[in-house]
This record gives sequence, structure tokens and C-alpha cells, in this order.
Amino acid sequence: MSLAEERLGALAERLRLPDLPVLLPALAEAAAVRELSYADFAELLLAACAEAADARAVETIVRLASFPASKTLESFDFAFQPSINRRQLLELGGCAFVERAENVVLLGPPGVGKTHLAIALGMEAAKRRHSVKFTTAARMVASLTEARNVGSSSRRLAAFANPRLLIIDEVGFLPLNPEGAALLFEVVSRRYEHGSIVLTSNKSFGEWAEIFSGDAVIATAILDRLLHHSTTIAIKGQSYRLKDKRKAGVVTTPAR
Ligand code: ADP
Ligand code: MG
Repeated sequence: MSLAEERLGALAERLRLPDLPVLLPALAEAAAVRELSYADFAELLLAACAEAADARAVETIVRLASFPASKTLESFDFAFQPSINRRQLLELGGCAFVERAENVVLLGPPGVGKTHLAIALGMEAAKRRHSVKFTTAARMVASLTEARNVGSSSRRLAAFANPRLLIIDEVGFLPLNPEGAALLFEVVSRRYEHGSIVLTSNKSFGEWAEIFSGDAVIATAILDRLLHHSTTIAIKGQSYRLKDKRKAGVVTTPAR
């Protein structure tokens, strides 16, 4: 590395423009070819630095969100799932609901795309630089229970309470004991009117008491807060996982 490059590296670090030394040579060359003014060149360089910083910020949010897979609204086949209103999903993808601290509830049987859409909405929020955390009901409750046992509940609770968007996948997949139900209630009420939740469940609201070992009081208390400012999307239809198997005649349930 030349002395000039070293000095530039030190300045870029001081100004927190880590991409500048990497971007500069090619942009300087392009500016010379296009005979840009110094002012235009400065703008071009700074804009490129800003864009790179944005991309890095989004990458960091996505990494911290710990999505279980990479899914997007673009890769969702709306034609396969006609019970979903494409316009409504694209509208939610605009993330106004995150800015308003509202919730989205995705209901439906296995394989219809609940987790896919939850992750896709999380990706859209991340792109807009909202912090996101993905978890499942079972994992969140296990994590909070463990933290309580070692006396660090409030820090762990903050991890679920603080992100702008919390995705709670698979509510109702496994039944929750009263302690687990109380922990879920705690998270939902801490976030109520402060931060968005995207929640998925294979159980309709009428079946929610079953999730909480028949405790209709806690089910109602959770639903009350969850649904006050929310959009519910009930997906009816065939499992995408079984699509190809059905085509091959392995699964014989008639298509509805
Ligand atoms: P659920 O959470 O409702 O059980 P998933 O979202 O996990 O279902 O979907 C199962 C698999 O099928 C995933 O790999 C998902 O990406 C894919 N999938 C589901 N529905 C669609 C769809 N309409 N278009 C594209 N992929 C889909
Ligand atoms: Mg799922």
C-alpha cells in the first residue's frame, strides 16, 4: 500500500466511510473518462459510499433477525394461493404497519406459505432499516424460561420487546403450559402499541384456548391486545410442499 493510500485509509476510517478507499479508484477513473467536474465527482463518490453503508446496515439487520431461510415477496407464487390477496400483501410489504406498530396475523394449515410470508415481510422491514427478530413461539418461551431460571429475564425479555418487528412463528404448533402462556402474554403486552408483531398460527382464533391448555382467559387476553390494531390473513388452500407430490400422484387429497 502506498503512503497516499494509507493516508486515505486513515481519513476514511476517521470519517466512518469504510467503503471509500475501495470505491475511489474505479470512480475516479470513470470520472476522468466522463470529464466530470470535481463537484460532480465528489457527489458520485459520496453517493456510492452512502449506498454501500445502507446495504451493510440492511445486511446487519438481516443477520441479527436470524431468519430460518431466505424468502421474499417476489419469490411467492400468488397464483398458487388464490385465497391470498396479492395487493394486500404488497401493501403490507410497504411496512406502514411497522411504522404504526400494528400487527399481522397469518393463519392457515401447514405448507400454505405462512412462514414464507412472515420472513418476506421481515425482509421488507429490514430493507427499510427497521430492526427485526424472528423466533418461534416454542423457542421464545424456552429462551425466556431459561433466562428466568438464571436470573436474566429482563435482558432476555428486552430482546423480544425491543425490535421494531417481532416475528413469532408457529403459535399453536405445540401447546404452551401456563408459565409459557404467561410469558407469551408478557411479550405481547410489552409490545402492544409500541412494536409490531407478525404472528403465524395453524389454529383459528376459536381454537386458541387449546394452545394454552384450555385457558380461555389468557387466550382472550393475548388475542385482545394482538388483534386491536391488526390485519388477519386467513390462508385456505393446498400445501405448497405437497404440490409436486400431488402432481406425481403420491398424495391423493382432491384439490379444492
Ligand atoms: P407454512 O409456514 O404455512 O407451513 P411455509 O411458508 O414454510 O409454510 O411453506 C413451505 C415451503 O413452500 C417453503 O419452502 C415456502 O417457501 C414454499 N411456499 C409455500 N407457499 C408458496 C408459494 N405460494 N409460492 C412459493 N413458495 C411457496
Ligand atoms: Mg411455518
